Amino acid sequence: MKKLFVVIVFTQLSIYLKCEELKYASIDILGGGIVAGIQSCFSQKPTIKSISKAFYKGCIGGAIQHSSKLLIKQSALNNNFDLVWPARICNSLGTSIIYNASQNKGLFDEFYMQFYFMYLKYDVKNNKFNTKVDIITSVNSLYMCINNNYKFNFIKSLKLNVLYFDNYEEQEIKPYVLGRAIGNSMYVVKQKFYRLDNEGNYYEIDKNLTVRHEFIHILQYEQYIPLNSISIDKLHIKYVSDYCLLNINFGLLYFINDKIFGYDNNIFEKQANYYKK
Ligand SMILES: [Zn+2]
Repeated sequence: MKKLFVVIVFTQLSIYLKCEELKYASIDILGGGIVAGIQSCFSQKPTIKSISKAFYKGCIGGAIQHSSKLLIKQSALNNNFDLVWPARICNSLGTSIIYNASQNKGLFDEFYMQFYFMYLKYDVKNNKFNTKVDIITSVNSLYMCINNNYKFNFIKSLKLNVLYFDNYEEQEIKPYVLGRAIGNSMYVVKQKFYRLDNEGNYYEIDKNLTVRHEFIHILQYEQYIPLNSISIDKLHIKYVSDYCLLNINFGLLYFINDKIFGYDNNIFEKQANYYKK
């Protein structure tokens, strides 16, 4: 019955999604399964049964994570940020399912969510609330706070659940960097940039595209947090693993991807470019 469910999900996806979408959807779905499968080996004695159980539950989490990117693509149609919060909740729900699957818990036993520089956990079963400080987000935001080139944007931060900064540096050398996301923080440059259209006229690049691109990276960052028990949690450093989240997983995966395929073919970049418009 469970296998049938997975087959139905994949068949439906292959029918309804365009080829490129199917590729990105598969990466998210299988990625969720693989993360949960690997992670389950650390939380219990691994058997074929336990790994495959975590895998298929992780695939469900991955599918939910993927729907958050579809919401961002949908919001691009109206060029607004109305669907950003639903997308964030969707992504967190998917990540929570992967977390729960990897620990052999019920799909909805615990809910995890990235909230600005904090990482929240709600234990639904025991009605317990716990919070960790996201080190990468905090350090990067602190750096931008004390650097005169960046200004905190309160409204955009509220809209995106991201520590959002405007960057006032002027760039003269191509290729231009229009924005960057690190952890749950990001910046987008204020400087205006222009491109030539097919008729030879210049038009201003829409910065909302950059915001959505960077936002997809932020969703990707959250997606791979469940792999964390392999890194920081297992080190059992007093206080660090209890109160701090050090999520280097996405950065590491991004770096490996970059080294193998290069920036233009980096799968995370291609995904961000596809769902931003
Ligand atoms: Zn990018």
